[in-house]
Amino acid sequence: MAAQTPQDSSASTVGIVVVSHSHALATAAYDLAAEMLADQPVRVALAAGLDETTFGTDATQIMAAIEEVDSGAGVLVLMDIGSAVLSAELALELLPDEQRDRVSLCSGPLVEGLLAASVSAAGGASRADVVAEAVGALAAKRQQVGDVVPGSDAGAGADMGAGAAADGAGEPTRAGPEAVEQFEVTPVHGLHARPAARLVSGLAGFDADITLRNVTTGAGPAPARSLTRVAALGAMRGHQIEIRATGPEAEAAVGFARDLAARNFDDVDAPPPPPTVSDTGPFAASPGVVVGPAWRLADRPTPPPPGSTGDPEADRAALSAAIEQVRAELHRTRDAATRSAGAAEAAIFDAHLLVLDDLAAAAESPSTWPDKVAAAASDLEAVGDDYMAARAADIRAVGDQVLRALAGEPIESLVGDGILVAADLTPAQAAALDSERTTGVVLAHSSPTAHAAILARARGIPMLVAAGPRVLDVAAGVTLAMDGGDGELVIDPDAETRERFAGRARAEQDQRSEAPARAHEPAVTRDGTTITVAANVASTDEAEAAAAAGAEMAGLVRSEFLFVGRTSAPDVDEQESAYLALAGAMGGRRLTIRTLDVGGDKPLSYLPMPPEANPFLGLRGIRLALARPELLRDQLTAIVRTAHQTPVSVMFPMVTTPDEVAAARGLLADAIDRVGKGQPPELEVGIMVEVPAAALTAATLAEDVDFFSIGTNDLTQYTLAAERGNEAVASIVDPMHPAILRLIQATCEGAGDRVTVAVCGELAADPQAVPTLLRLGVRELSVAAPAVPLTKEAVRATDLGKTDQAGG
Ligand code: PEP
Ligand code: MG
Repeated sequence: MAAQTPQDSSASTVGIVVVSHSHALATAAYDLAAEMLADQPVRVALAAGLDETTFGTDATQIMAAIEEVDSGAGVLVLMDIGSAVLSAELALELLPDEQRDRVSLCSGPLVEGLLAASVSAAGGASRADVVAEAVGALAAKRQQVGDVVPGSDAGAGADMGAGAAADGAGEPTRAGPEAVEQFEVTPVHGLHARPAARLVSGLAGFDADITLRNVTTGAGPAPARSLTRVAALGAMRGHQIEIRATGPEAEAAVGFARDLAARNFDDVDAPPPPPTVSDTGPFAASPGVVVGPAWRLADRPTPPPPGSTGDPEADRAALSAAIEQVRAELHRTRDAATRSAGAAEAAIFDAHLLVLDDLAAAAESPSTWPDKVAAAASDLEAVGDDYMAARAADIRAVGDQVLRALAGEPIESLVGDGILVAADLTPAQAAALDSERTTGVVLAHSSPTAHAAILARARGIPMLVAAGPRVLDVAAGVTLAMDGGDGELVIDPDAETRERFAGRARAEQDQRSEAPARAHEPAVTRDGTTITVAANVASTDEAEAAAAAGAEMAGLVRSEFLFVGRTSAPDVDEQESAYLALAGAMGGRRLTIRTLDVGGDKPLSYLPMPPEANPFLGLRGIRLALARPELLRDQLTAIVRTAHQTPVSVMFPMVTTPDEVAAARGLLADAIDRVGKGQPPELEVGIMVEVPAAALTAATLAEDVDFFSIGTNDLTQYTLAAERGNEAVASIVDPMHPAILRLIQATCEGAGDRVTVAVCGELAADPQAVPTLLRLGVRELSVAAPAVPLTKEAVRATDLGKTDQAGG
């Protein structure tokens, strides 16, 4: 494996080779040491794993690593277990005699030994001293946990390691001027590894003999050049440390320690945990950094129904009027949500309208309304399924709106300045927020995939969810600092924290204001690979917005938008016009039309299906389309007709097996025959990879398609067995989980060179995920229109050549 050299290498320092069975283990140990060293020069090379994922050690690799770091000052080899030692010994035998004499195989522990040896080598120590440091690297830990080494009478702290032996009592022996001073340990966790490493490596540069003593506990003295000995002083916060230096640069050395101590050893203490969050939350739900005052929704209990007037006709008329008022409100909310968040997100209000229709059909009078609503909701809740429970919540929300209309309550005012803190928001409330004035939202409950969160993202309002019930204790006016992208919340932040968040907000703003200027330029990585940045669209408005935002194509047309909220399916002509309108709005750019992706969890009234216990594992996506092919036949006919007029890709959702692809392609071939104009010249065929089985058998599926598009939203829920919309498992839903990254990697490997791999799930729009996705082999990112410019910027900041590949 290639040698790695943190920061500037120094020709005169001892080199270090890390031999491990695991590439990941060695890389992590190396990263840890490099972080501790800050900018100290040291040469470290890794000889770990047969490749990035296969365990094993190889003598020739070890030889190459030794040669890489050997500058003449000698090399220390640290090894993990078993055959690592045998391979290192073999490597040693293979070296020329003259070089072999400069190499020490060292029994020191891999992690602590690497850290101690690196600090020692960076300070210019001899090979013997570096070896002594590595061998003695467990001394501080032993002292701290107080374990007794079997077969020895050395108890806690008695074994100070070879470093101790090499340094005797650690008293200064140099002649010359002496300087003595004390400083206090201020870092929260005492003189732990990082501050100790800074002190030791900084003092190593002075021409003086230096010792440190813990005045508070009496431990020491310890030679200042030994990290392990300094760590063994057990210096905790508040302890007084004496530094004693002798030699020409004694004063300067003491002055260095004084200054470092005054700067808290350059340690940034982690901020205390936010005082009012849940154990697991808050979770990032919509990106954006905000500092501002909290505001609260007035707590409005649901009014009781009005009593009967004694005139059944009048009662029925009052109820009908209230229902009509709510219907009009829902239409307004849906239209507003379509404009601000897109048709797909607004479809929830179509569902609410259908709920209202159902309730209206069964309702007789205002007084029986609450019972009808409760009965309808509890019927669904009785199914014992989270999806149905969420639909029950929809029924209760709609029922509530009617009671408020009956009571003559004004439509809820959702106007407030600053960060809204609430238990939860209904989709209607999230759609009604004034995004100019409400700069952020913190919810005690909910999950990142709830409708409120989806609407907040689409509308660009930063949001945190699942912050825990204690967040509701925050009074209006209290300042909050929130990061909706990182999931961080600080209540009543101090000046430093405010400035930290304000700095992040400024950086974000700068990036946002620069991104649009380059949004229409190609997205090219630093090392020259062009990545297609596409948009996910579900309406012509969104397609227009996508083209304006710089999208190079529609990477995902969620064709459900044509099918939901109506009583019959659109016919072939209507679909063709809709697809052509989308292509027009996109300026003729390619459309990737995903065939209808509905099923048990997204029912269509004109495609009745028996209830399923686990709708996400049931008849949905391509499974439903093949089981009930009449809709797919029409849709493919419309797609083929469209493809004769504009560039089109057809994409099948939720594919699990090659048989499904073959069946879907068969229906596509039939549609091409039906249209009768031959194969559309630019028609491409692909599948969504959102089932782990598809990712793991990508090589087989690749034989029959032109592209894969990874749906990380569903891939995450299926891989982690954590439903997308279920708040209770929201902490598990992590699309950057190593398991998901492995599946993305498997998809890219299976795709080979011929089949393009795209990501069209929400993960594609996470700037922090973009480098990882691209390094795994993804070459197209499809994101919501507003995210296109920043996604292109994230691509431009990526260097594919870097070695820190995820998932390996
Ligand atoms: C996905 O699952 O990641 C995806 C893009 O599809 P949808 O969110 O429409 O299920
Ligand atoms: Mg999906």
